[in-house]
Amino acid sequence: MSVPMYQLPEQLPSVWQPTSVEEAIQLKHKWGSDAVIVAGGTWLRTRWENGLAPMPQHFISLGRILALSGLTVNAQGKVHIGPGLSIADLMKNELVQQKCALLVQACSEIAAPSIRNLASIGGNVMTRTGDLIPALLVMDAQIQGTDGQNERIMALKDWLAAPLGAEDEIMTNIIVQTEIVKEAGILHEFYLKVGRREAFTPSVVTVAGRISLLADGTIADIALAVGGGNAIPARLSALEAEMRGKPLSKAGLQHLHKGVMADFNAVTDDYAGVAYRKQTAANLIVSECYKAWRKGGGAYASQS
Ligand SMILES: Cc1cc2nc3c(=O)[nH]c(=O)nc-3n(C[C@H](O)[C@H](O)[C@H](O)COP(=O)(O)OP(=O)(O)OC[C@H]3O[C@@H](n4cnc5c(N)ncnc54)[C@H](O)[C@@H]3O)c2cc1C
Repeated sequence: MSVPMYQLPEQLPSVWQPTSVEEAIQLKHKWGSDAVIVAGGTWLRTRWENGLAPMPQHFISLGRILALSGLTVNAQGKVHIGPGLSIADLMKNELVQQKCALLVQACSEIAAPSIRNLASIGGNVMTRTGDLIPALLVMDAQIQGTDGQNERIMALKDWLAAPLGAEDEIMTNIIVQTEIVKEAGILHEFYLKVGRREAFTPSVVTVAGRISLLADGTIADIALAVGGGNAIPARLSALEAEMRGKPLSKAGLQHLHKGVMADFNAVTDDYAGVAYRKQTAANLIVSECYKAWRKGGGAYASQS
């Protein structure tokens, strides 16, 4: 059993450093709402500093649980990413660079290098608004978690849509599909984050996507995700279904623009309103799909 690394004066928190997921869950059961699970602590810190949540009496650090920082590929080509991996380590990993280019692109848009050294991928997802989520949604990510009794794996999009899970659940893996079935033609992936300045900025809008075009310009497959600010990122599944099998003509791009405007559940905050966010997301997605169309030599030019 772990002991607190150091015991601070009574009103200040104790830091616990379990070495297994089971031990972390036991500690959470023991301390209940007086404890919080901490990965890098970078998001939690902002909550405490801004008075959005009280600092609890006990921190349960995941930093010494080696099982949460692994990275493996299974026989089906799925990459299992330990949620405790820092964003910096994730970006530097050769396997991730080879198989998850979209995720690497998203990582490079998070905060600044000093924060990325501490901030974990799991913490980013657990906040439910993290900028990595749109990329993971497009990669059809699954979340694996346990409450000590039951283990569950569910699609990230369902996990985000469901009400908050058990307080004591620990995320143990993020599983991403990397073997993309590529039809003959063009495959174009994109991740774009818009903030109020070029870099080191909170997101106003974040979009990610993958579009696969047949040689004749028909959309073979399309995956689109949007988020930004306090919006919970989501896949635009209904719009994707409408677009599949259609030509990416001028009319198709206009339909896409209207669809993003209608389906993105943007949220107003001090930085930007809903209308601006919807318009920005729609413009970004359409411009990326247009790039794919251009890559394909502008098939269906007669309809444009
Ligand atoms: C200056 C600054 C800039 C930032 N910029 C960005 C940005 O550009 N984009 C962005 O998305 N975020 C940004 N953030 C927020 C934050 O850094 C990231 O979201 C980061 O990835 C959170 O990871 P963490 O390990 O620090 O999470 P923590 O703060 O440790 O935890 C976040 C939440 O996840 C829970 N948690 C963590 N791991 C697990 C687990 N395995 N199982 C169960 N629960 C878990 C914690 O209990 C907590 O509720 C910024 C933060 C700062 C301070």
